[in-house]
Amino acid sequence: MSRVYNFSAGPSMLPLEALKKAQEELLDYHGSGQSVMEMSHRSKWFDDIIKEAEQLFREIMNIPDNYKVLFLQGGASTHFAAIPLNFMNKNNKADYIITGNWAKKAYQEAKKYGNARAVASSEDKIYSYIPKVTREDIDPEADYVYICMNNTIYGTKFPYIPDTGDVPLIADISSCFLSEPLDVTKFAMVYGGAQKNIAPAGLVVCIIREDMLGNEMACTPTMLNYKIQADNDSLYNTPPCWTIYMCKLVLEWIKEKGGLEAIKANNVKKANLLYDFFEESKMFKSVINPEDRSLMNIPFVTGDKELDAKFVKEATEAGFINLKGHRTTGGMRASVYNAMPLEGVEKLVAFMKEFEKNNS
Ligand SMILES: *Cc1c(COP(=O)(O)O)cnc(C)c1O
Repeated sequence: MSRVYNFSAGPSMLPLEALKKAQEELLDYHGSGQSVMEMSHRSKWFDDIIKEAEQLFREIMNIPDNYKVLFLQGGASTHFAAIPLNFMNKNNKADYIITGNWAKKAYQEAKKYGNARAVASSEDKIYSYIPKVTREDIDPEADYVYICMNNTIYGTKFPYIPDTGDVPLIADISSCFLSEPLDVTKFAMVYGGAQKNIAPAGLVVCIIREDMLGNEMACTPTMLNYKIQADNDSLYNTPPCWTIYMCKLVLEWIKEKGGLEAIKANNVKKANLLYDFFEESKMFKSVINPEDRSLMNIPFVTGDKELDAKFVKEATEAGFINLKGHRTTGGMRASVYNAMPLEGVEKLVAFMKEFEKNNS
């Protein structure tokens, strides 16, 4: 068996231990005589799986009892619509902080349903920094404030949680989910697609404070109605059973590793290997405002498009795949989610040093 180091922004690497466990349990899950892919979502086996996954989320993220943990579908992008439908319900107003493509898409979607306002944007500098937003910038009549916590494409992360006063704060945490401890109580809702740091694609985990539920617009599709999903314990219809199972295995892996503090320590180590190298390298540079740098998605450039292409090609041949930057930014990007081993980053940095030596 030969496995590559996959630096993709998503879908991305999963912990080898979780994959092996899935392999072991593939054909006969816990004596059920069937795979989780085949079993009824109403079976006792699956009931245990989804309950354990929820319990592990609560434990690992320290989620208070007055929050619902929902296992939904449609990718994070579907929730760009579900959020205004469910929450833009008092004054039909919401404030969006635009820190990248995903935040902008969410904002554009929200404008279809009400008065969404862009409070601040870092588009002027190709989203290479996080704007500083204070309570004074927020419309006190907004039904919520929306942020994208970690900007997957640009490699920035909010270094602070915006103070929105009494206005509920909602965050897309798709690409920093479970990467470090997060104070959930500062948010009315956090959510994210699973395929970055949690599980295969097909699952969106929504953590929502209970008092937010039940005020959706009358036109809200049933499947996008968070209250209905919560009342049905995420089983209003058939959920993505296999993905929820994989999510459970990944959560068990995180717990075994020592929880989010330990996961964070490892992530900091990996990210610093790259950021420190960019400081010393004469070829590879980070273009991101240092205090806003992401731990998960690390873009870099040489400043020369041909050299970038040569690097990506040679890296791919050496087993470091998906390092090409997003089509809107060019350059390179190393996504180093939880499952990327430290060794993968060490080897990448060694490869970059060698490449620099051979090409300057
Ligand atoms: C990948 C990503 C999305 C889009 O996710 P889908 O599940 O493909 O809809 C949204 N927000 C962020 C921050 C992402 O990284």
